[in-house]
Amino acid sequence: MRISEGVEMLQLTARAFDQDIILNPTLVWNNDEAILIDTGMPGQIDQLKKVLNELNMSIEDLKAIFLTHQDLDHIGSAADIRKKSNENIIVYAHEFDKPYIEGKLPLIKTNASQMSNEELAAIPDDIKYLYKNLPKVDVDRVLKGSQLLPYCGGIEVIFTPGHTLGHVSFYLKKSKTLVAGDALVLANGQLMGPVKQTTLNMDEAVQSLENFLHYDIEHVICYHGGYFQGCPKEAILRIKEHVAERQS
Ligand SMILES: [Zn+2]
Repeated sequence: MRISEGVEMLQLTARAFDQDIILNPTLVWNNDEAILIDTGMPGQIDQLKKVLNELNMSIEDLKAIFLTHQDLDHIGSAADIRKKSNENIIVYAHEFDKPYIEGKLPLIKTNASQMSNEELAAIPDDIKYLYKNLPKVDVDRVLKGSQLLPYCGGIEVIFTPGHTLGHVSFYLKKSKTLVAGDALVLANGQLMGPVKQTTLNMDEAVQSLENFLHYDIEHVICYHGGYFQGCPKEAILRIKEHVAERQS
């Protein structure tokens, strides 16, 4: 789906827990370069190639991969992309998630050694395979909040920890697009905060949403749920209200 000139929200379909799920990496490009934000599940390289072909691009055109965080469904195909790009690609992620992404520590949410036998038994075989063969990729450069990356008209890093320790979102300056990663999800047309079951620190994640209020946002891309037109401000205020109600 074309969001604006040089910004495309991709749609990758994956099968997990007996359901088809759609993941939405973002492709940003100009005449000189293309970058990919998040990479889908392990094994989605062929789908990615096909989607890029439809846009008259190829894996070799990618100059960089930005990873919003360490989760399996975001870093999954990064290593395959690097291989296909003849190792020319630069992989970016926040320093707090780097050791997990590189496989020096097990991915926090898919750490089989931390699970009970009952929990492991409840996981379908294809997912169990993933848990035992966690994807990993070397991170070439670390990201910091407020950093401006000199790609495609400027991309600003917004530090949004909570969903994971080093979760980041990205603001595409030229198109005023927020690539929220998993800091926001879209469900039934409504912007919502991060999903509680998969968020490590919900208080921190809700606090992080305030960082979006400093930006002039026209488009929002959620990795889960897709495209939302408009400013997330109202949604953020509503989410904060809900949290406050729950606490009172
Ligand atoms: Zn996710």
